[in-house]
Amino acid sequence: MGLVVQKYGGSSVADAEGIKRVAKRIVEAKKNGNQVVAVVSAMGDTTDELIDLAEQVSPIPAGRELDMLLTAGERISMALLAMAIKNLGHEAQSFTGSQAGVITDSVHNKARIIDVTPGRIRTSVDEGNIAIVAGFQGVSQDSKDITTLGRGGSDTTAVALAAALDADVCEIYTDVDGVFTADPRVVKKAKKIDWISFEDMLELAANGSKVLLHRCVEYARRYDIPIHVRSSFSGLKGTWVSSEPIEQGDKQVEQAIISGVAHDTSEAKITVVGVPDKPGEAAAIFRTIADAEINIDMIVQNVSAAATGLTDISFTLPKAEGRKAIDALEKNRSGIGFDSLRYDDQIGKISLVGAGMKTNPGVTADFFKALSDAGVNIELISTSEIRISVVTRKDDVNEAVRAVHTAFGLDSDSDEAVVYGGTGR
Ligand code: ASP
Ligand code: MG
Repeated sequence: MGLVVQKYGGSSVADAEGIKRVAKRIVEAKKNGNQVVAVVSAMGDTTDELIDLAEQVSPIPAGRELDMLLTAGERISMALLAMAIKNLGHEAQSFTGSQAGVITDSVHNKARIIDVTPGRIRTSVDEGNIAIVAGFQGVSQDSKDITTLGRGGSDTTAVALAAALDADVCEIYTDVDGVFTADPRVVKKAKKIDWISFEDMLELAANGSKVLLHRCVEYARRYDIPIHVRSSFSGLKGTWVSSEPIEQGDKQVEQAIISGVAHDTSEAKITVVGVPDKPGEAAAIFRTIADAEINIDMIVQNVSAAATGLTDISFTLPKAEGRKAIDALEKNRSGIGFDSLRYDDQIGKISLVGAGMKTNPGVTADFFKALSDAGVNIELISTSEIRISVVTRKDDVNEAVRAVHTAFGLDSDSDEAVVYGGTGR
C-alpha cells in the first residue's frame, strides 16, 4: 500500500460543489488502495477577503493577529472536506497545521518550516482514516504562536508533509492541467509539459510562473520528492516535477532544450542617476537596500560619461518594496552621493528557461531576434546558465511572451491550455 499526499488549491474547493467533487477524488485514491493525506487551501478568494477585512479595521494589522485570522480560512475548508468525505461513507479527520506537526520559525506572515512531526497524521491514516490537513500554517517553535507560510504556502505544506511521511508522491491539484510552456492565461497555444527537472522548475518559479511556488520546489528538490501537478477538474495526467525524467509507457520523456517562457509584472525599476564612477559606490547603494531588508533582482550599471565621470545604476525589485527602497536611498543620499532617483513601475520581465541552452549556441540571438521582430524594446538583460531574462515595457509583455513562445517552436497544434477555475486574484 502506498501513501499519497494530495493538495487542493482554493479554486478547487471554492464552493460546496467543489468540496464534494474533491471529496470524491480523494475517496477514489483511497479506494485504489492508498493511504491518503489531503492538504487544503482556503475556499476561493477567502484569504484575500480576510486580508481586506483586516485592513478595514487596521491599516497595518499586527502580524500575529493576521496569522490567527488567515489560518481560519483553511480551517473552514478542512472541516467541510472531512464532512463531505464522511458523507461518502469513509472515515476522515481534519487537523490544523499545528496538530499536524508543522513547526516553523516565528516570522509572522512568512514563516519557514523548520521541522515536521506528523505523529498524529501517521496514527490517523494507520487507523484507516483519510487525514485532511490545513495548508499554509504552522506553529512557532519558540513563541508557540500560530504562523502562516506566506501566500500560496499550502503547496509547501504538502511537500513538507510528503517528505516527513516518506510519501510515494505529492500530487498538487490546481485549476490548470499541469505546468505549461507559458502562462495559459496569456498564451492560448501553451503546451503542457510532461516532465520538468527541479532546476528548470525553480527558474520558472523564480521568474514569475505561478503554478508552483519557488519555496515548494526548493523543498521538493532538497528531499527529492517527486511532484505531480494536475487538475482537480479534469482526469488528465499532469506534469511531473522530479530529478530524473519519468517513463511514460515505453516512451522515455526527454529533457527539452527549452522548458518554457515565464513572465513577471510584479517588479519595478529604480535608477540611481549621477553616481560617481569610483570604488565603493555600488557597495554603498546595495548596502542601503540590504539594510532595508529588500531583495533585488537584476542590476545594470552604465558606462560613465567621460565628461562628468558619473554613471547610472539601475536595479529591479518587487513593486511592493519600491517606497521603502526610495526612502532608504534618499535618507543616505549624502553618504552615497548621487544626483537623483527615478522610479518606474511600468516594467515587465520575460524569461526563457531551459537546461538545453547550456549546450545549444544561438538561443540568446534567437530570443533577441524574436523580441525585435515583435517590435519590443529591451531595457535590461540578465542571464544564468539556464535562463535569459529581459526587462521591457509592461504593455509589451504579453505580446513578447507570445512571440518568443512561437519563435522557439513551443506552440501546440491544439488549444489544449484550459483554465478551469480561479479568479486569477
Ligand atoms: N490560502 C492561502 C493563500 O491564498 C494559501 C494557499 O492558497 O496556498 O495564499
Ligand atoms: Mg489561495
